[in-house]
Amino acid sequence: MVHMNILVNNTTVELPEGSTARDAAEKIHLTAPDQAVAVTINGNMRDQWTPLNDGDEVAFFNFDDPAGKEVFWHTSAHLLAQAIMRLWPDAKPTIGPPIENGFYYDFANLELSDLDFDRIEKEVETVLKENLKTQRFEFTSKDEARDAFKQNPYKCELIDGFEETPISAYRQGEFFDLCRGPHLSSLNKIKAFKVLKTSGAYWRGDSDREMLTRVYAISFPDKKRLKEYLHFLEEAKKRDHKVLGTALDLYSFREEAPGMPFIHPRGLTIWNRLLDFLRSLQTDAGYTEIKTPTMMSKELWERSGHWEHYRENMYLSQVEDREYAIKPMNCPGCMLYYSSSIHSYRELPMRVAEIGHVHRFEASGALNGLFRVRSFHQDDAHHFMLPTQIREEINNILLLADKIYMTFGLPYKLELSTRPEKSIGSDKDWEIATNGLKDALDDWGHSYRVNEGDGAFYGPKIDIHIRDALGRFWQCGTVQLDMSLPEKFELEYVDSDAQHKRPVMLHRALFGSIERFFGILVEHFSGKFPFWLSPYQIRILSVADRHAEYAHELAKRLRRENLVVDVDDSNESVGKKVRTAQLLKTNYMLTIGDKEVENSTAALRTRDNIVHGEIDISDFLAKVIEERNSRSLMSPYSTEAKEKVT
Ligand SMILES: [Zn+2]
Ligand SMILES: [Zn+2]
Repeated sequence: MVHMNILVNNTTVELPEGSTARDAAEKIHLTAPDQAVAVTINGNMRDQWTPLNDGDEVAFFNFDDPAGKEVFWHTSAHLLAQAIMRLWPDAKPTIGPPIENGFYYDFANLELSDLDFDRIEKEVETVLKENLKTQRFEFTSKDEARDAFKQNPYKCELIDGFEETPISAYRQGEFFDLCRGPHLSSLNKIKAFKVLKTSGAYWRGDSDREMLTRVYAISFPDKKRLKEYLHFLEEAKKRDHKVLGTALDLYSFREEAPGMPFIHPRGLTIWNRLLDFLRSLQTDAGYTEIKTPTMMSKELWERSGHWEHYRENMYLSQVEDREYAIKPMNCPGCMLYYSSSIHSYRELPMRVAEIGHVHRFEASGALNGLFRVRSFHQDDAHHFMLPTQIREEINNILLLADKIYMTFGLPYKLELSTRPEKSIGSDKDWEIATNGLKDALDDWGHSYRVNEGDGAFYGPKIDIHIRDALGRFWQCGTVQLDMSLPEKFELEYVDSDAQHKRPVMLHRALFGSIERFFGILVEHFSGKFPFWLSPYQIRILSVADRHAEYAHELAKRLRRENLVVDVDDSNESVGKKVRTAQLLKTNYMLTIGDKEVENSTAALRTRDNIVHGEIDISDFLAKVIEERNSRSLMSPYSTEAKEKVT
């Protein structure tokens, strides 16, 4: 028999001629349901039943790799559609892509309720038991493909839009679907399947076209992963910042101003602490702060390029026959500030911060609590510097970012995006800029990912993605070098040789949108804020009416230390009062009864229900003031934070 040598995950494997990628996987024992779910042959994604040639390079991906998940969930979407077509033969499948968590499939002519989910899951099980083989077909022309899908106008419309032939389709049993592939080698790898929800969705995302029924589902190579995911969903639901925002009276949204949050007093307590914290760090790091107008003339936005490229997202206004726009970004205002005076090279680097309030139009369907809004604040800053200062400036920013994220217990990862195909600026400028960022990242010593060609057209950038307590990543921080705006605004400094030169400029934000960061923190902490940030720090509970006077006196004493203190002197039972305080996630409850009045003390209980009994007030004050001033994630009286940080 003739053998061929295949390079699998960088090791040579000998296989008989005619072997497929699947045979290679079996040969090296990648047979578990979560193993070898996707394969590339010579760098291209392929079906596993593709025959191999001598010398081919093969790489396998497991379920836990992004490529593996994509193939797994993509194949599962077909399975979902097949089950639905068996139950509702008149439904018309349209598209069904994998998404970040699972997949969906959109159907025309289908109405579903939550009560149908069980039926769909049972049907999926039935299909799986049939052990169907998957086959790939190729149509060499659009006509041929259209003919095969003539029952389904949606598929025909998709075919009309395709640019390339052949057009591929996949069959499993009676179910035949248009698809680019690749697919799992066997449906047997799907061991757990759950329908999650349904929603409406317009065909092709176009609100002028038909409303379809979107069915979301998820699947896994084992039951354990599904269980973990459902637990994650439950946790995420409990932490939902829209729900907690109402329960804790932090902010609200009104129909009168869609996508523009109203921050309530307790919410503003958190807000102000966040900004105090940021400002103190910025002052230490040599920043100055400015405030520029919210509305500026059309000419400014034409100069910055926003008028041409971003106008659809801007709120416009006309005053005395002159056109204005509400700023969607702070940069142009800061450029005007810089150019308002002449700068010497000795002033550089200049670090100019602005907590700017910006407005950007977002489609109403895209709005989502504090995560996606139309009105928000950015912790923006612009650094103006000499080319030789890039590395050190970036280093200082990374240091600042680290201090901020670590204070909240948010680990992070860094990504460097380099020059895209379409870009402005000379090769030399890009080299200096990119190397500046790279050198700074290397100095920093953390690992980082490089996204080749993913930078903005005006410069390379570093993005910082934080990871919250549920393991979700959020891009908050960004550092972007900009070779465009200094040109457009003709920014200059006077160098030591008396020549006027262009400074290097960078944008940076670390919270990003303060509103969004606020929402992330609410979910990250599940509303149980660390003491320094908490809008409900201490609640004093009187046992009976006769204890109210002392309770209020004590509150006064604590408030003198700038603590947030509430008194519950209502007629409810102590048990009920404790419950109310805990629902508000109050860090500390101080109960006052006869003994406490007599001894001038209080009985301490934490929100995770650790009962400390009678405590000395001065001692308590010293401890919580230290807890606040150090912005600690750990309470001296509780262990909850320790559990949370892991
Ligand atoms: Zn497919
Ligand atoms: Zn900027």
